[in-house]
Amino acid sequence: MTLVLANARLIDCAGPPAGASTAPPGTATRANAARMIEGASVTIERGRIVEVLDGRRSPSAHGAEIIDLHGSYLLPGLWDVHVHLEWPRLPAATVAQLTVQYAANARAALVESGTTGIRTAGTPHYIDVALKRAIEAGRWEGPRMFTAGWFLTTTAGHALGTGFAKTCDGPDGIVREIREGMQNGVDHVKLNLSGGIMGPAWDRHSHSFFLPEELEAAFTICRQRGYKVMAHAANPEAVKAALRQGAWTVEHGYVMDDECLALFRERQAWYVPTLGITHLTPGQATTAAEKRWVTERALTPDLIKRAEDAVEEHRAWFQKALRSGVKMALGSDIRPVKDAVGLEMGLWVRDGATPWETLLAATRHAADLCGMASELGTVEVGKRADLIVVRDNPLDDVENLRGPELVVKDGRVVADHRRRHV
Ligand SMILES: [Zn+2]
Repeated sequence: MTLVLANARLIDCAGPPAGASTAPPGTATRANAARMIEGASVTIERGRIVEVLDGRRSPSAHGAEIIDLHGSYLLPGLWDVHVHLEWPRLPAATVAQLTVQYAANARAALVESGTTGIRTAGTPHYIDVALKRAIEAGRWEGPRMFTAGWFLTTTAGHALGTGFAKTCDGPDGIVREIREGMQNGVDHVKLNLSGGIMGPAWDRHSHSFFLPEELEAAFTICRQRGYKVMAHAANPEAVKAALRQGAWTVEHGYVMDDECLALFRERQAWYVPTLGITHLTPGQATTAAEKRWVTERALTPDLIKRAEDAVEEHRAWFQKALRSGVKMALGSDIRPVKDAVGLEMGLWVRDGATPWETLLAATRHAADLCGMASELGTVEVGKRADLIVVRDNPLDDVENLRGPELVVKDGRVVADHRRRHV
């Protein structure tokens, strides 16, 4: 079966990998490198893109299903590389309840918002692994998943009230939990090196949790077994410890220093800034979507204060990282996952990223972070066809990515919302 997406304005997101730009940081060239192909058509066979044409040539229509996009914008599917699938929070939920909820939320992210790839950052009972397997086997509709299983922290660690954190202490205890994850099929290991914003009084983002010997043991077993570490690190010491130990990604980085940025570049590690955590409070919400989100979220006054106390520094380090060539990808850490990419992209732009930088962070760079640079993240011949179509130009306003007309995964139309747009 051949599928042709015709008459598109194609934003292919192709180009050099993250951190490879030769243009000086912050220059117009770097920001404006976006390319759009008018009148493009994309031909897909057996889940892969086999031909991309600009408006000067017509695709072969023989035996193909042709969808005329009437000038809508065609681009890679969106990614969120920091996801927790819960929402709403279900106190004392059973594993069965959580499983059903997570499956529904993952499906909604794919079909409603065009989130075709996610990386989980802490999921209880390896529900993410089960869900990924069901999706890969075609038994459930959902995004491509890259899974962490449990969020591994220490006693008196972070996220203990969430249900997705597992405490482990001492080198032996930590290594055993990491091995449990491997045996249960996780793709990467989520380690909690420091406190966070959303936590009780004894969980502060300035606190680092692991002893040196615990950190050493955790990273040693991951290196030895070839598993990448996704490190929650929110203060400069924790960020540097993670990077020196070889973390693949560092999440949050609310507070950093110049040495952190130098280490990111030296180690070619990824920074996932999760702006939503500090930026989405009632006093900071500006768009209708943000206001709705903060109302539904109903954060306590204490958590609002912690977020707002941290936001300026978080913003400053996000901007510095962006301008100094640190590899960055978009991960939200906010729920529900169907709303998360849109909210986080809006915050990237508000903090000074261009729509193009933001779009790359949520497509090509996110796919690269997940080890899928050769398979996904751009619209190019040979790649798997995970695509979205939106009516208006996302490079004018990333809000235009909300409510895609079409979502295609593996070359198959999984959502067609075009009727609501006519
Ligand atoms: Zn998280």
